[in-house]
Amino acid sequence: MKKVKIDKEKCIGCGLCVTIAEKAFKLSDEGKAEVLVVETEEESKVQEAIESCPVGAITEVEEPF
Ligand code: SF4
Repeated sequence: MKKVKIDKEKCIGCGLCVTIAEKAFKLSDEGKAEVLVVETEEESKVQEAIESCPVGAITEVEEPF
């Protein structure tokens, strides 16, 4: 399973990631994106969101297993 994080300093709250992968991201009350659970079937959408974020605020984190 992938793990992603949002750089809240960079995030401009455009909501694009939420539109692309609504199960993986949500906008917080402060108007910044937050990561929910990244299910395996959502991974391609999450990848698309990472590539689509206009400020590059979403990054993938290596999970040490
Ligand atoms: Fe923030 Fe990027 Fe998501 Fe827009 S696409 S809400 S800038 S993380």
